[in-house]
Amino acid sequence: MLGLAELAQPLQLVFFGAPGAGKGTQAERFARHYRIPKISTGEMLRRASDERTELGALVSETIHRGELVDDELMIDLVRSRLEEPDVANGFVLDGFPRTVVQARALDALVPHALIIALDVSADNLLRRLSSRGRTDDSLDVIRERLKIYESNTRPVLDYYRSRSMIAVVNGNRSEDAVTDAIEASIVRCLEPRETS
Ligand code: AMP
Repeated sequence: MLGLAELAQPLQLVFFGAPGAGKGTQAERFARHYRIPKISTGEMLRRASDERTELGALVSETIHRGELVDDELMIDLVRSRLEEPDVANGFVLDGFPRTVVQARALDALVPHALIIALDVSADNLLRRLSSRGRTDDSLDVIRERLKIYESNTRPVLDYYRSRSMIAVVNGNRSEDAVTDAIEASIVRCLEPRETS
């Protein structure tokens, strides 16, 4: 992977894709390599749902139904996380945005983020989710999450396609091959801005 010093700007990466596409795995790799924080909304929500508060109970119910947490709450959560000082050198976002409303809000917060969309076949998504063993990975909940991805989250792709800062990467490959492809996309997308 290329070194952070070779990049002329903080790396602001957004991993986008269906549940099971490998967003978390790849986000973790890039965050570790570039020593920048990984911001996973799913992890933040799972932590919140462990707390014995009214909000925690609500979030827990939503996750276990495979539904999406309210846009307003999600945007507030991400906005305040992005205000923390450790994101100054860049960050990797995993699991946000999941709706067009969230994508618009993110655009206002981080206008030059690079969106990495992981494209994975339905068969592979199902296979990966079924073998993961998370409590929201039972077959019924998986089906619901994939359905909601199609109706609410996939439209975000069209929103981003109208802008230049999106790279679609074939995620139907080994983790290493996907990492290499993402890295190549980062170089391709950021180069023109470095020399301008
Ligand atoms: P994940 O770990 O990214 O698969 O997220 C787990 C669950 O958290 C999702 O199925 C949603 O219920 C919830 N969640 C995570 N991120 C978001 C988001 N950006 N908007 C709404 N709900 C979310």
